[in-house]
Amino acid sequence: MTIPTVTPSMIDPFGRHVTYLRVSVTDRCDFRCVYCMSEHMTFLPKADLLTLEELDRLCSAFVAQGVKKLRITGGEPLVRKNIMWLFRSLGRHLGTGALDELTLTTNGSQLGKLAAELRDCGLRRVNVSIDTLDPAKFKAITRWGDLGVVMEGLDAAEKAGLAIKINAVALKGVNEDEIEELIRFAHGRGFDLTLIETMPMGDIEGDRTDQYLPLSVVRARLLDRFTLEDIPYRTGGPARYVRVAETGGRLGFITPMTHNFCESCNRVRLTCTGTLYMCLGQDDAADLRSVLRASPHDDAALYAAIEAAIARKPKGHDFVIDRRTRRPAIARHMSVTGG
Ligand code: SAM
Ligand code: SF4
Repeated sequence: MTIPTVTPSMIDPFGRHVTYLRVSVTDRCDFRCVYCMSEHMTFLPKADLLTLEELDRLCSAFVAQGVKKLRITGGEPLVRKNIMWLFRSLGRHLGTGALDELTLTTNGSQLGKLAAELRDCGLRRVNVSIDTLDPAKFKAITRWGDLGVVMEGLDAAEKAGLAIKINAVALKGVNEDEIEELIRFAHGRGFDLTLIETMPMGDIEGDRTDQYLPLSVVRARLLDRFTLEDIPYRTGGPARYVRVAETGGRLGFITPMTHNFCESCNRVRLTCTGTLYMCLGQDDAADLRSVLRASPHDDAALYAAIEAAIARKPKGHDFVIDRRTRRPAIARHMSVTGG
């Protein structure tokens, strides 16, 4: 394993090296997944958003401070106007070797149009979120999505030579009977598959305790059908992987609720308004937009603000799905900080 080289400012009080920045470039989306958003969302006024140039400057400051992996997410990142300019610009850090990886989490709706250009900007892997292979269920989960369009996006990404990981949120009573099919589909096409537990983030006009399905249960059920071998494979994210002996493919589990993965956390998250969250499951944040705008030509204050924020990175999250109040543990939606 290679030890990342980072400046001291990117080491938190618990000795964890922060080498991974996730950036939500928009809170908007062309889907309305039931576990992520309510149908009638109020989005941020455009004036509050960082411009693409400001996002580029902020991301580049993190890269200069030791971030080696950048994930662009959202909302749906590919619906932001002119977003390819940002990918192209950030791709320069791959060329210099300052950045190891530039990647993307997407719902796949725009990949048909953009996959080849993304590859051209230096992307090598994408995460595509697909919770079900049933078109009617897909429509029910995403409210506005079309599985056929997403499948065309997958084809385009594959054709462009991008490695693909499918993300699926495990939803009680919705796709729990389809996990085997998702595994066979993903592995049959040479894709990794990662299962995610629902996290209590943001009001969704529904009851989350109805949706929550512990992955420990899913895993136990899979053992009736498959042989799961723990493997040390890591992508820099929180997933723990197994190899499915019967398919030869990799299956990841992201278990914020049943297993605390904070001890190895190397990530911070930036919103499209320039707010830095040091933990997905805590409210403490740093406003980098005002620092950025106060000194348009000098990054020294920005570096100091990043350093001060990393020094406040909490030890971990404490997500709970509160069965008494049925309120989310974290008020902001996942689309604010990105998945
Ligand atoms: N729109 C893109 C997409 O869907 O991939 C990127 C943003 S989305 C917020 C990132 C990931 O977070 C998706 O895989 C989505 O399924 C997941 N997600 C959204 N809300 C979640 C929640 N409350 N709990 C767990 N995962 C969630
Ligand atoms: Fe949009 Fe992704 Fe949230 Fe679904 S999970 S509503 S695609 S941001």
